[in-house]
Amino acid sequence: MSAAVHPLTDEPARPGNRPQLQVVTPATAVDLDRAERAVGDLLAALGQNPASEQLLDTPRRVAASYAELLTPLAFTPTTFPNDEGYDQLVLVRAIPFRSLCQHHLLPFTGVAHVGYLPAGRILGLSKLARVVELFARRLQLQERLTTQVADWLQAQLEPKGVGVVLEAEHQCMTLRGVQAAGARTVTSALHGLLRNDPRSRQEFFALTGAATWQGAHA
Ligand code: ZN
Repeated sequence: MSAAVHPLTDEPARPGNRPQLQVVTPATAVDLDRAERAVGDLLAALGQNPASEQLLDTPRRVAASYAELLTPLAFTPTTFPNDEGYDQLVLVRAIPFRSLCQHHLLPFTGVAHVGYLPAGRILGLSKLARVVELFARRLQLQERLTTQVADWLQAQLEPKGVGVVLEAEHQCMTLRGVQAAGARTVTSALHGLLRNDPRSRQEFFALTGAATWQGAHA
């Protein structure tokens, strides 16, 4: 099996192809005023003086930062009929992502490798990155983020296989606790042929650069 590895680019608009699916941003709106007051309280509880000149604007900035990290951008996951019957692996490698650890509210950041073996429909390449972002912009666990991206692609495209690998550094590990600077956590979620066919799976991991990694798959 050969494969096409695509760089992460926005594909040009293709007239005549209708969007088939809609993704709506979850309506968990952030209450900015309340968040701002809470950050002020947190600063006071941490022995800081939120009324001081240096910290005067900090609650607003912190609230806005969290709001941004927790608000995915709505997008339309345009799919196209696979008219040419392309049946090789489609893989977008090293999609940068950032998310927030639900245990510490500290960021974890890294890259996602997202691939699938097409069946009846294919997805615009840039949309693979949007799917990662959709699930990354919420309080997360890396394991769950990996599974959600894979499950979403499986449900929306019904491809022959799906593979998702995430490599990330967690600030709750590198800044505090064991302070394991540089330690990366690798997770994967596989469906269909990428899970069950050893050659396809091996090729997928080789192309992601995670070839030597043989851990348990979600
Ligand atoms: Zn954490």
